[in-house]
Amino acid sequence: MAITRDDVLKALSAVTVDAGGTTLPASGRLSQVVVDPTNRVMFSILIDPSEAERFESVRRRAEGTILAMPGVSGVFASLTSERGPNQPAPPAQAAPPQPGRPAPPRTGPALPGVRHIVAVASGKGGVGKSTTACNLALALSAQGLKVGLLDADIYGPSVPKLFGLSGKPKVIEERLLAPMDGYGIKVMSIGFLIEPETAMIWRGPMVQSAITQMLREVAWGDLDILVVDMPPGTGDAQLTMAQATPLSGAVIVSTPQDLALIDARRGVTMFRKVSVPILGVIENMATFICPNCGHASHIFGHGGAREEAARLDVPFLGEIPLDMTIRETSDSGRPVVAVNPDGPHAKVYRGIAAQLWANLTGGPAPRAAPRIVIE
Ligand code: ADP
Repeated sequence: MAITRDDVLKALSAVTVDAGGTTLPASGRLSQVVVDPTNRVMFSILIDPSEAERFESVRRRAEGTILAMPGVSGVFASLTSERGPNQPAPPAQAAPPQPGRPAPPRTGPALPGVRHIVAVASGKGGVGKSTTACNLALALSAQGLKVGLLDADIYGPSVPKLFGLSGKPKVIEERLLAPMDGYGIKVMSIGFLIEPETAMIWRGPMVQSAITQMLREVAWGDLDILVVDMPPGTGDAQLTMAQATPLSGAVIVSTPQDLALIDARRGVTMFRKVSVPILGVIENMATFICPNCGHASHIFGHGGAREEAARLDVPFLGEIPLDMTIRETSDSGRPVVAVNPDGPHAKVYRGIAAQLWANLTGGPAPRAAPRIVIE
């Protein structure tokens, strides 16, 4: 039996939000309610950050009410502080940092056990952001760091495919999901949790809500770094997400074409607006290496991202060639850094990962412990 949004709203009218008996749907705090084809219900409750504690109990009651509905297979509800129609404006954003000065540290609620959260973003889709995020995460892991990868690309989650992972994550405690294992790193993707067509209709508050849950209701354990593959672009959803996630920094992936660079510039501006330090720009598909003769050609021009990074006063992390091996390994679920860790591609990603870690922490990563061979 298909559950409708009206069914959900009717059920939620039994949940009150204050002593006066205002119901959740009447409070104006309910985001758009989404029911996916498997009868999973998703919504968020708009609050001011100062109301978080009080509304946590409303959220739990709302979830309990929906779970008790016959036919509902799951519920995904969370609190969001995006401004709602009946709410006061959120506190003013910190002023954007002055060019050349480091951004002030972020103050969002940290994730226990996770030292750094770093966003991998792009101004537009198709520049190789997800491929780069995966291989960077693996390269960080190869340096002896404990690494997680959160695929927050809600409009086109591709991490399951890039890692060749399928199936649903296990629930290990009430409301806590176990991340999947992808070549030794902890992986969670919105793609494990929703049907692809559901993703397309998600709006800003829903996006934030889902990300918050994937951050906080996944058993990440102790991590040195959690890499977040962001949705492409610089619209409201991305801005909201950048605000809602306690990011230590962001990396922008761009191709050398001018257009992509304009988009990359928007990405830099977006993170500056919310005071997230830019750890660097990566130029992807920089040169084409001919698979037959090894000759390098600069199909899209060359050096644009490096120059642009200098103009924007952000670090340049390096160039990744346009290479058939990278595409083939990504598309077959065997990321190149994992399957050929000593090859030339892995070396490029490792160099970028080392620079990224240095920009993040000011020091080198611990080396992987040497392998002891007993003969
Ligand atoms: P995005 O996340 O920006 O949308 P993807 O990572 O999904 O982009 O990459 C888009 C396509 O480009 C994929 O088919 C991927 O295999 C390919 N690709 C990404 N980076 C490279 C590269 N350096 N060389 C060759 N192909 C690449």
